[in-house]
Amino acid sequence: DLRQRLATRAVHAGQQPDEPTGAIMTPIYQTATYVQTGLGKHKGFEYARTRNPTRDALERNLAALEGGIHGFAFASGLAATDAVLKLFSAGDHVICGENVYGGTHRLMTQVFQQLGMRFTFVDTRNIAAVTAAVTPVTRMIFVETPSNPMMRLTDLAAVGKVAQERKLHLAVDNTFATPVFQRPLELGADIVIHSTTKYLNGHSDMVGGAVITNRDDVAERLGFLQNAAGAVPGPFDSWLALRGTKTLALRMRQHDANGRCLADWLHGHRAVQRVYYPGLPDHEQYDLACRQMSGFGGMISLELGSAARARTFAEGTKLFALAESLGGVESLVGHPASMTHASVPKAMREAMGLTDGLVRLSVGIEDVDDLREDLDQALAKATR
Ligand SMILES: *Cc1c(COP(=O)(O)O)cnc(C)c1O
Repeated sequence: DLRQRLATRAVHAGQQPDEPTGAIMTPIYQTATYVQTGLGKHKGFEYARTRNPTRDALERNLAALEGGIHGFAFASGLAATDAVLKLFSAGDHVICGENVYGGTHRLMTQVFQQLGMRFTFVDTRNIAAVTAAVTPVTRMIFVETPSNPMMRLTDLAAVGKVAQERKLHLAVDNTFATPVFQRPLELGADIVIHSTTKYLNGHSDMVGGAVITNRDDVAERLGFLQNAAGAVPGPFDSWLALRGTKTLALRMRQHDANGRCLADWLHGHRAVQRVYYPGLPDHEQYDLACRQMSGFGGMISLELGSAARARTFAEGTKLFALAESLGGVESLVGHPASMTHASVPKAMREAMGLTDGLVRLSVGIEDVDDLREDLDQALAKATR
């Protein structure tokens, strides 16, 4: 029911009490196949790559959260992006944000480029640059906003207009903002992609992905691709994600409150040279952030000035665990230049401000005073 507000949809959308038992929670249908009562006589379920009731419930729930009609769950965020790229063919051209997730860049340049697709990476903060990159064979614009780890924003309404005028698909990776804070479909996107591994599941205990769309033609092909290639999540991971989304609105509220509080405090800290957080008034796209997002979340990047300081800091936190990934209830710290973005050439990293002195925080939902104290002692070590 799309008239319901998001927190209500998060708990209820796509789920009914289990038909035979009344179980209020969708069971984990741990099965590979379904018995047919006669040739071609079944209850809509034939084989579990094609459909599974636990996955069905997750897909309906995710679609409702994004305000979309069709949802497809995948085995990972990259499997979701892989399926979206397979909507196109050799010779087709895609315009992609230059600061997207490293694995997205790798999939485009090291897999789909070999298969004959073409990609142009542009700074999608600049809409004129996006328009200038459109060619007669361009089929899609792919953006991630806020971007990782520089927290750059793309104006979704503006890029949506370009896509609509040129009849291109607009795909938005909404992993960082989540539907709680940003609704790409309502701003003109055709396709929303998630790594459900991050905030949607929110507990760092599974890997998964999703694609949501309002377009019937896209949905038909995506459903075909999901079954044809088979990169589907198992019933248990689907169930974990479905359990995770129930508390999404609640968790995001706390990530956002903690994120704002710590970004503000770090901004005034003498050991920190620069803070990248869309909710800070000195973020160069703060006005756009306020217009496009209803919250800023828990992702913060910090410039500490040198690789040595970044290392001491990242190794010196006690509550913030040093690990890849983001979006879980627990706080994490990472060093993009040597971890998530190590495959990006150094010159390209530095050009976008991704220096060896940059660290990235995924702020969890712990007590913010404990988090602040932990960052304070690690900053003291880093600048001693
Ligand atoms: C993690 C991530 C992905 C990839 O998702 P996986 O589940 O790790 O495959 C894609 N986009 C963003 C923004 C991510 O953070």
